[in-house]
Amino acid sequence: MASGILLIPGPIVISENVQKALGTPSVSHTSPEFVDLFASTLQKTRQLFQAGESAQPLIVAGSGTLGWDMAASNLIEPGAKVLVLSTGFFSDSFAECLQTYGAHVDKLTAPLGGVVPLSDIRKTLGGQKYEMIVITHVDTSTAVLSDVKSISEVVKNVSPDTLITVDGVCSIGCEEFAFDAWGIDYALSASQKAIGCPPGLSISVLSSRAIEVALNRKSQSSFFASFKKWIPIMQNYEQSKAAYFATPAVQLVNALNVSIGEILEQGLEARIAKHHATSDWFKNKLRTEKGLKLVSSNQRVSAHGLTAVYVKKPAEAISALKKKGIIIAGGIHKDIKGEYIRVGHMGESACNDSLCHIQLCYEALSELEL
Ligand SMILES: *Cc1c(COP(=O)(O)O)cnc(C)c1O
Repeated sequence: MASGILLIPGPIVISENVQKALGTPSVSHTSPEFVDLFASTLQKTRQLFQAGESAQPLIVAGSGTLGWDMAASNLIEPGAKVLVLSTGFFSDSFAECLQTYGAHVDKLTAPLGGVVPLSDIRKTLGGQKYEMIVITHVDTSTAVLSDVKSISEVVKNVSPDTLITVDGVCSIGCEEFAFDAWGIDYALSASQKAIGCPPGLSISVLSSRAIEVALNRKSQSSFFASFKKWIPIMQNYEQSKAAYFATPAVQLVNALNVSIGEILEQGLEARIAKHHATSDWFKNKLRTEKGLKLVSSNQRVSAHGLTAVYVKKPAEAISALKKKGIIIAGGIHKDIKGEYIRVGHMGESACNDSLCHIQLCYEALSELEL
């Protein structure tokens, strides 16, 4: 199946040990071996999100999108007002998911490649009551990084009852994120991006306030995605007790345990610094040596796990790199789809020493007429 170095913004290249962990023989999902493994993985997830014991991590078979359905079907009732900050395609899709479950969504849309100004958020929250606000930490369509910490401060000041939901699919594991310290209520991610595991797991964390909301919810609008079903399952596993609602993805959890283990071993701070250094190196080269323009042109709002950059002929750049064994991605933002490329530099690929993935990618790109 190998087709080259995968430098799209997820799935990403996985480490050898993660790959090995995926290929282990079957064990029962209720065996003591798996119970211990799952408990340890849930604990590591807490550390990764910087969440304490009062928060509850959930690891459920599915992709990042399942976290949207979970937020929409557990944390709000139909008709609830939700404020979505849109920094691109993924924020807009999250909004569509919320509407599917009957939420009344108001959207504040950032200028293309930028973020929503804090003053606009303050004004909007001051004028109306919202049950939830949704922030996409990194919108993978534009490589825009939102300042979740500052936005959360505004929410706590102006509208403290509003639940804060963060899509961290393209940020957890490569950007600074502090669930407890920033007062986040629900943060969702997926296994295949900066966490460095194959696709197939929805990984999320609930605050004690969000747990209370979910457990006291009167109606249920989802079954597989129900927090009422999943919270006790995760709590049981963490207390070394097997529990069953729906079969966990046993081998994927084993791989996740290894991949988060590798992140924590490296140290969160060191890992994030490495992503910053790689991203800065790559973006600077593209800007200064190739004269290219980034979609997120303001450095303060630029993500560190991927680069979105305008080029004259994206399709040709993508196929030229493919011939050299490097797979990159095209644009997906509706307004600029055919005008840019996206290169992921997360996990194993967040490295710019010679022979590292991103340096090989830059060398291949620099030979092209961009
Ligand atoms: C990839 C991505 C998603 C969707 O995740 P899937 O695993 O493809 O369902 C959601 N939000 C962001 C920011 C993403 O980058």
